[in-house]
Amino acid sequence: MSCTHTVVLGAYLLGSLDPPERADFELHVPGCATCRREMVRLAPLPGLLGQVRLEDLELPFDDPAPEPALWPLPPLPEPEPAAPRRRVRWSLLVGAAALVLVVLGAVLLVPPLLRDDAPAGVTWQAANSSSGAAASIDLVAKSWGTELWMTMRDMPEGARCALIVHDRAGRTEIGGWWGTDHPDDERIPGSTSFRVEEIERLDVVVDKQVLVSVRP
Ligand SMILES: [Zn+2]
Repeated sequence: MSCTHTVVLGAYLLGSLDPPERADFELHVPGCATCRREMVRLAPLPGLLGQVRLEDLELPFDDPAPEPALWPLPPLPEPEPAAPRRRVRWSLLVGAAALVLVVLGAVLLVPPLLRDDAPAGVTWQAANSSSGAAASIDLVAKSWGTELWMTMRDMPEGARCALIVHDRAGRTEIGGWWGTDHPDDERIPGSTSFRVEEIERLDVVVDKQVLVSVRP
């Protein structure tokens, strides 16, 4: 739909029509949907919004014809018959389940000593004949040094304990701090950057006194 009057709409909105042209146009617009739509389109121009009526804003616009590139996609071709695909998927599932069983079996059947999380190390033990305190320390070789697991017996109650690690070059490191109020079978973790073969001795110290000195 088009209307020859729309060519003067811009001039009308800008107030540049002659009075007779203006009167003519104002008589025409109320009865012409095309001119009212065009007025709505130009309404965002400053100062023109007041000339648009509410019902003009609610006029339905004709949708423009879409370009070919925007046309809906043609429907997809019919999918393959379902039965063969289901068979493929079932065989995949069976294969995956078999793989899980194989991996599970491998994990369960590997000897514990070959697994990373199993302690594969040495145990050093010592007891102090005068104090009665005894220590058993597992040393586990790690890429970062040595993991230490201490089991202490007959330690003084309510004491703070430190493990001092000495290496064969005369260096020392603190392998850990702990309190002595624990069950006898408690395993207390410690660590040192020294490799197992570098460690000369492990001193369990309370109040700056060596309670037990543990050596290979
Ligand atoms: Zn018109």
